[in-house]
Amino acid sequence: MKIDLNGVTALVTGGSSGIGEAIATTLAECGAVVGVHFNTGGDKARIMAAGFDNGSSAFGADLSDPEAARKLFVTVAETLGGIDLLVNNAGIFIPSHPESGHGDWMTAWDKTLAVNLTSTGVLCREAIEHFRGRGGRIVNIASRAAFRGETAEYLAYAASKGGMISLSRSIARSFGKDGIKSFAIAPGYVLTPMTEEYLEKHGEEMVASELALDEMTDPDDIAPLVAFIASGKLDHATGCTIDINGGSYIH
Ligand code: NAD
Repeated sequence: MKIDLNGVTALVTGGSSGIGEAIATTLAECGAVVGVHFNTGGDKARIMAAGFDNGSSAFGADLSDPEAARKLFVTVAETLGGIDLLVNNAGIFIPSHPESGHGDWMTAWDKTLAVNLTSTGVLCREAIEHFRGRGGRIVNIASRAAFRGETAEYLAYAASKGGMISLSRSIARSFGKDGIKSFAIAPGYVLTPMTEEYLEKHGEEMVASELALDEMTDPDDIAPLVAFIASGKLDHATGCTIDINGGSYIH
């Protein structure tokens, strides 16, 4: 089986780092035109998009602002002539223990929910309107944290990822007859810039001890699934969440 994404246009948020970078690159390798979204560090996103050499382009937006999320979708759709696949990948993982006090905890809660869930919701709403009549697919990069919970410093993160899962399912349920398919991917621990600090603090041995496999998960272990979803070959799994966590639930 060959995955041919020629004719597909994708918007990948957080597309110039970690999991998003692998997704954007894999989609482009399969022939898709990619809107590579970035927050800071637009140079890398622009170099990536130019390297795809197929009309892909880079787009900046700070997704802690929901209005910026709305404008991002509209701009990408206008510039690239429509969107067929939205990948909500951008996210933050900021620690704030309840003991840090109400003020600090609220600041971390609000920012986490804004980037991880509110902007995802705004982008999904834009996509639903855009896809109605022409069809389209949404992939939300959630987390294992939605199901098993997270440690005390990451209550907001886990809550935001749980929200992404139910958002994803609700879209599949409500808009399937409009040709809209919606999926969630729930990675476990993946080696990216987001988890470097965590790895330094807890050590590779601790992280690896949770896995059934004898190797850590890499962004390239996630990206092919998004290309497969983009191809339409998984449409009858709409509404599902796919775990990619090195077998950590069965371990
Ligand atoms: P990463 O830090 O490499 O990527 C995060 C991306 O989000 C970056 O591209 C960054 O620019 C973007 N982003 C952060 N704040 C933003 C803002 N205010 N506005 C716009 N964009 C912003 O980390 P990653 O591990 O590749 O994370 C990608 C996704 O995968 C996240 O949603 C994360 O929660 C999820 N995830 C990661 C892991 C893991 O172990 N790495 C596990 C489960 C889920």
